Amino acid sequence: MAVYGWIGLGNMGGPMTANLVEAGHQVKGFDLDPAACDAAKAQGVEIVGSIAEAVQGSDAVFTMLPKGEHVRSVYEGDAGIWAHATAQTLLLDSSTVDIETSRFCHEGSLERGLKFVDAPVSGGISGAAAATLAFMVGGLPEHTAEAVEHIKPLAGKTIVAGGATSGIAAKICNNMMLFIDLMASAEGSQLAQKLGLDPKVFWEIASVSSGRSWAQQTWYPVPGVIETSAADNNFDATFRVDLARKDIGLALDAGVMTGVKLPAAALAREHFDALIAEGLGAKDCSLIVKNVSPDGTV
Ligand code: NAD
Repeated sequence: MAVYGWIGLGNMGGPMTANLVEAGHQVKGFDLDPAACDAAKAQGVEIVGSIAEAVQGSDAVFTMLPKGEHVRSVYEGDAGIWAHATAQTLLLDSSTVDIETSRFCHEGSLERGLKFVDAPVSGGISGAAAATLAFMVGGLPEHTAEAVEHIKPLAGKTIVAGGATSGIAAKICNNMMLFIDLMASAEGSQLAQKLGLDPKVFWEIASVSSGRSWAQQTWYPVPGVIETSAADNNFDATFRVDLARKDIGLALDAGVMTGVKLPAAALAREHFDALIAEGLGAKDCSLIVKNVSPDGTV
């Protein structure tokens, strides 16, 4: 049995910690939100009142927080992770953050003689619950090898991407491709319908043709075609618009940093910004189909 500290018990951290408990490990969880703590406690997580308590005596400490600013804030300062970790503690950040925050965590850990890996995930809330998440891990080889062992109860697949920040770089690029593919499915699905095609028939054609993608297979934004689409559920979120906007923003920032031109990603950002301006940030990101339908309805 290993002992884990876990900071961030939200939609992802909740089910992920439940899986560690299920696998027979002790988990000391910390979150600012009492409701998140109560839900995790009901799954067998031991709720602690500070980051220090979560970190002290733990073999590994995960962070699963919304944004880079949250991750930095829990690492820094007298009450933070760095102040209480030892050279034995493996630190893993599984949040989706900007490259700079991830580099900050790597460099700050290295300076203090601590072990850190970036270990973001793909697979969503359902993957977190089913322990089938894809993890992409970056860091020093001896640290990533140790991380792979700790991740096993949570993952369907773990791929070591390379050195520091390579895991988060992979995550940012992957999600950018996903949202660009989602735009293609939104436009293709609307055009096909207006050209008189039956939505299900066109989906079947695209599924065995070159229009196939994960977004087309899983998020096709037309009701009555596939069960996993939010379109069948009033566009209630499986992946929120505002989180998608955050992720595409991370890709665009990385584009500025590297000089790579990302016009399709910029267009995706416009879609998400338009929905957020309408107060639809908490709905599903596949609602961008509304922006391309002739009369704005779906
Ligand atoms: P969430 O908002 O549901 O959970 C985040 C939790 O962090 C909340 O419970 C919040 O109270 C807590 N928190 C914030 N600041 C804190 C602090 N300083 N100390 C302690 N707790 C704090 O978000 P989520 O959906 O669980 O996502 C977490 C991360 O995983 C994000 O970076 C997200 O982009 C990424 N991610 C999410 C999904 C998904 O489908 N939801 C999929 C892959 C990756």
